[in-house]
Amino acid sequence: MSAVPTTTATELLAAIKDVGTDPARGGYSRHGFDTAELELREWFTAEAGKRGLDVEVDRNGNIWAWWGAPGPDALVTGSHLDSVPGGGAFDGPLGVVSSLAAVDLLRAKGFKPSRPLALMVFAEEEGGRFGVPCLGSRLLTGATTAEAALKLKDSAGDTFADAVKAAGLDPDRIGKDEEALSRIGRFVELHVEQGRGLIDMDAPIGVATSILAHGRWRFRFTGEGNHAGATPMGARRDPMLPASQLILSARWAASSVDGARATVGRLVPTPGGTNVIASSVDVWLDARAPNDGRTRSVVERITAASKQAARDEGCELTVTEESYGDTVHFDAALREEVVAALGKAPALPTGAGHDAGILAAHVPTAMLFVRNPTGVSHAPEEHAEPDDCEAGVEALAKVLEKLAAE
Ligand SMILES: [Zn+2]
Repeated sequence: MSAVPTTTATELLAAIKDVGTDPARGGYSRHGFDTAELELREWFTAEAGKRGLDVEVDRNGNIWAWWGAPGPDALVTGSHLDSVPGGGAFDGPLGVVSSLAAVDLLRAKGFKPSRPLALMVFAEEEGGRFGVPCLGSRLLTGATTAEAALKLKDSAGDTFADAVKAAGLDPDRIGKDEEALSRIGRFVELHVEQGRGLIDMDAPIGVATSILAHGRWRFRFTGEGNHAGATPMGARRDPMLPASQLILSARWAASSVDGARATVGRLVPTPGGTNVIASSVDVWLDARAPNDGRTRSVVERITAASKQAARDEGCELTVTEESYGDTVHFDAALREEVVAALGKAPALPTGAGHDAGILAAHVPTAMLFVRNPTGVSHAPEEHAEPDDCEAGVEALAKVLEKLAAE
């Protein structure tokens, strides 16, 4: 490598600031294998190329950029480039650009890893297009089967199989990839914090302890579509009524279980006309709690209230679990090493899911969080100050330097 580029995380984020902006919602809508995400993947590939990293795309569409030869027991870091609908600029991309900037820092000081080192970009982390979060890492590890994934549909009716094909992947080769997974010795993900933990601790960088148990459920209420003017109130089977009861019960049920959260952020009535009683309504519930038992208990309470409301209105209800992940406790020994590399860093749990949480079931995994002064995430207000972003890059570089030298 003759000319080693040296860039900051902020400069790298600025380079992609116009990709996938969402004028209607604000912020960004970058979803797995859509035009914006494909552009970002190309951008990453080019940036990795400028640094002399060898880029490959695995069978599930995750990108690997190798510093040195690929190999077993690799130290791997990375995150994702996709977003939720109308998401912020940092959730995902901050971890990706920080990995590039950390490589620059390490190169500038002449560091050479003693073990294989790779930067990764995971596919469809948010589930913004196909509904299942961490789809790239779930497929890689086998947490989601190829059979289930290929059938997933986006809002336009395109299947995941169509999308991967359009992106140049082979749908027949999607699925658990032991060979690729077995190369990861340890994994570290840097991510913008998605709460107020580091604000309260007055610290720019923290280390994750655990992720809440969390899942997504689809509730489909079916009633009878009819005319809004011609159908008397007593003759209706309107699925919007039990759907609204679900939303109310989510607030009540989660509030009554310690540490739980339940959210309805998406509801789709069919056919969706102002002067039409809906024939069916799909409502997606996101529920999370510190452990499996409490999460299940919240969902059971909401399901019971929804069933009762559906019966009262003469509607039917089907509930489908679209994804679920139990509580993740990150590897304590690796966390201690990470904290030792940083000198000091507070440890904190998170309510957000991450690819690191999926990988944690297979390899020692750690996460670094960068302070978010708004405490807001999955919204355009999500933020990280340039100084904190650089502190994140320096922290990641220190961690990579320590772990890749071992
Ligand atoms: Zn993320």
